[in-house]
Amino acid sequence: MTAVLFDLGDTLVDEELWGTGEDPVLPGVRETLPLLAKDRRLGILSNSVAATRIDVARALEAVGIAEHFSAIVTSAEIGWRKPHPLVFEAALSALQAQPGECAMVGNDLAADIAGAKGMGMRTIHFRWGTRYPLDPRAEGKAATLVVTRFSEIPAALRRVEALRPPRRTSVVQEENLVWEGLFPGS
Ligand SMILES: [Mg+2]
Repeated sequence: MTAVLFDLGDTLVDEELWGTGEDPVLPGVRETLPLLAKDRRLGILSNSVAATRIDVARALEAVGIAEHFSAIVTSAEIGWRKPHPLVFEAALSALQAQPGECAMVGNDLAADIAGAKGMGMRTIHFRWGTRYPLDPRAEGKAATLVVTRFSEIPAALRRVEALRPPRRTSVVQEENLVWEGLFPGS
């Protein structure tokens, strides 16, 4: 595996603390990112419809974790949201990686895990705390591996690397267009 793609909100930073002045970086992230960045390119794929990659880079710089990432892609710039394949294609292209060379790490089964699986990427579901109870409808969206602590990700990556990547399938869904998300119900 040459690259790892991370979701941002509630994967690297706590969405409830983001922008409050409190440290939003989730436990284990600061210690684990340097280990992963030693021999892999790391990227971020965020479903933010407001923040550009420059905004995200500045915010991550302020909390001291920007240096580990060589690519940041946000939905605000692509016009589509995860799980749409276009945003994954943009992120893979920025990381200069093929889907089979890049694992996705994220907290959201529908956006991060199903989207990346559809692309043919191996997936690690980061399931922590009680903010995201397991959705019983999530069947079929299961990740290659599930971790409950960020510090488990290096070992999880070594395990998923030994497995064959999933076959690519189409997950195109029109409702993932950013503009519909901005004006719900319109
Ligand atoms: Mg998230």
